Amino acid sequence: MLSVHNPANGQLIQNLEEDTATTIAAKFGRAKHEQKKWSAVPFSKRAQAIAKFRDLLVERLEELAQTMSQETGKPITQARNEIRATPGRIDFFLEHAESAMREELAAESEATGGTREVISFEPLGVIANISAWNYPYFVGSNVFVPALLTGNTVLYKPSEMATLTGLKIDSLLHEAGIPADAFITIVGGGAAGSALLEQNIQGVFFTGSYSTGQKIAQAAASKMIRVQLELGGKDPAYVCEDVNVANAAESLAEGAFYNAGQSCCAIERIYVHEKIYDAFLDKFLSTAKGYEVGDPTKDSTFVGPLTRSQQIEILEAQVQEASSKGARVLLGGKRLTSAGNYFEPTVVADADQNLRIMREESFGPVIGIQKVKSDAEAIERMNDTEYGLTAGVYSQNESRAREILAQMDSGSVYWNCCDRVSPRLPWTGRRHSGIGSTLSVIGIRAFLQPKAWHLRAPK
Ligand code: NAD
Repeated sequence: MLSVHNPANGQLIQNLEEDTATTIAAKFGRAKHEQKKWSAVPFSKRAQAIAKFRDLLVERLEELAQTMSQETGKPITQARNEIRATPGRIDFFLEHAESAMREELAAESEATGGTREVISFEPLGVIANISAWNYPYFVGSNVFVPALLTGNTVLYKPSEMATLTGLKIDSLLHEAGIPADAFITIVGGGAAGSALLEQNIQGVFFTGSYSTGQKIAQAAASKMIRVQLELGGKDPAYVCEDVNVANAAESLAEGAFYNAGQSCCAIERIYVHEKIYDAFLDKFLSTAKGYEVGDPTKDSTFVGPLTRSQQIEILEAQVQEASSKGARVLLGGKRLTSAGNYFEPTVVADADQNLRIMREESFGPVIGIQKVKSDAEAIERMNDTEYGLTAGVYSQNESRAREILAQMDSGSVYWNCCDRVSPRLPWTGRRHSGIGSTLSVIGIRAFLQPKAWHLRAPK
């Protein structure tokens, strides 16, 4: 039995029947049987169902936001923001999926001495979508929407921390016209995910932590299937001395504390040029102190509870180590005593590079800030990580920022912004942040396999 609790007060919301190895195998059988039929449905019909799903998200926004907020603790305003922004991503896929699948002529026979060369794109087959709880609409739709549009069938396992949302997505897709066996939801936690990987799937698209990502990669290794892993980050930003300090501080505080810091691309480390270090700390603190912390059902709440109670101990340990080794805890630093998984927004200054708060993903409302003397020092510190999801620079000078960003070993880079994802750009993690890309045309092709045609007319 999967018990869903409200992280804001610990109350039980609902108990759900979990899938077992047997039910998962049966679901795989249905998805396998359906796949050829689904891929033979004309693209326009598949797109019609996805467009209807998009409209249902708009129509049912409030009900969906309430469910997500209750089970994950996401502040209601941020829950609405996520659902409101999902149709924009779906529209990108609707506009570009058909052309991404279109056959390409690589060479006319005259050019090759008699052989026409063509590339076609075919769906992978049945794919597994093992998802995270922090942005279930974003990270889910990045996978299942292009997967379905390109003719794959999907076994979708939402996170055990966002299953009610997963079940809402399931019912809306089916109401929109996606056949029952083209998209099938699996209820459960790690054991269900692991049983899903034992099926004869043709691809696994995972969003979650590095440690689970390793297990997924190992389980998939002997199958030789498409593996895509969107994992965590320790995303840094560097603030140059030429910035408007207030603007940079406000932008970075939002990037650190939005969704209680539980974003894969949340700002996790800030390096500030020594010439403006104190001024930056002042503005950053006053911004962070202005955030309303508490009840996620209130429209004005900015920082809600953490979704996973276990994360609180990790945050406490990071802050405690930092303060015992000479860093200054300027704000917060402890759990809130009220019921629920609350941790105070926490700002740690003079955070040495070797501290866990500067090295391990915090995934909570805590931030480490460090002073640097030069661009060269900032570059070295920012790249000093196992992760490689995003990195940012705040500066008035575009060429200076671009020169620094060109040296970042990360999949996305930002100038004067952060914590931003666009459907038009590939979302890619390097090293411990993952393998492969979602979004953009590259993220549509991820669900297709090319076939090379060598066509020679008889002589
Ligand atoms: P998690 O790794 O705990 O769980 C992710 C999913 O994997 C869940 O559905 C879980 O049930 C499943 N799972 C757990 N063990 C499994 C196993 N052995 N086999 C198969 N499946 C298994 O991660 P989480 O707590 O849900 O998400 C937080 C993490 O996700 C953070 O590290 C965050 O940075 C990362 N994330 C990354 C991105 C990105 O785009 N790069 C986006 C969102 C979240």
